[in-house]
Amino acid sequence: MIKDKVAEVRNAIADACKKAGRNSSEVTLIAVSKTKPVPMLSEAYEAGCRDFGENKVQELTDKYGQLPDDIRWHMIGHLQRNKVKYIVGKVYLIHSVDSLKLAEEISREAVKKKVTVNILIEVNVAEEESKFGVSCAEAPALVEKIALLPGICVKGLMTIAPYVENAEENRQYFVKLRQLCVDIKNKNIDNVCMDILSMGMTGDYTVAVEEGATYVRVGTGIFGDRNYEM
Ligand SMILES: *Cc1c(COP(=O)(O)O)cnc(C)c1O
Repeated sequence: MIKDKVAEVRNAIADACKKAGRNSSEVTLIAVSKTKPVPMLSEAYEAGCRDFGENKVQELTDKYGQLPDDIRWHMIGHLQRNKVKYIVGKVYLIHSVDSLKLAEEISREAVKKKVTVNILIEVNVAEEESKFGVSCAEAPALVEKIALLPGICVKGLMTIAPYVENAEENRQYFVKLRQLCVDIKNKNIDNVCMDILSMGMTGDYTVAVEEGATYVRVGTGIFGDRNYEM
């Protein structure tokens, strides 16, 4: 049952917080519902989930219209510039901004709709070839440039750690992202907060929480395996 899975994840988050001397109210669980049908999301909603993560614009906007409007929708997947217009005004947070051009498009759309869009910078901390995201070295300059754009607010950083058997192997990357976040925060850039660290997935979220995650993105751990052939 999804309800039991949600409880299990929440307990594991609470344990990791305790271990790290953190308050569990600092960590928000995002139920990553990509590929899963609306009734399963409703079940998670009934279990108290209000934050949902999707990685495709079309799927997000479809589900958006079918579920309660107190849900906070998180765009966690790679975002194409020509699709920005469909989600601005709908999503609570875009986790996957990794270029100035994409940020400029979000800014244009935000100004047009008279809203402010909160974003995270996606950082490829482990420097995997197959992954999107800027390098740690590039991130500060990108934040400084995006901070100058109207209608957009940089709230923190996101990373997708490598797929590993042993979550401990990813601790180094979570530590690195947190340190990068602190470094950027210390620059005191106008319009930049750096209070959010989106890191940790089903395989490694407890380690991420121990290292300071404020958002964990859990899919399989709540909804079970995904079937991409559907
Ligand atoms: C799919 C996905 C997740 C969730 O992955 P699980 O391993 O199923 O928990 C988290 N973050 C991003 C960006 C994803 O695309």
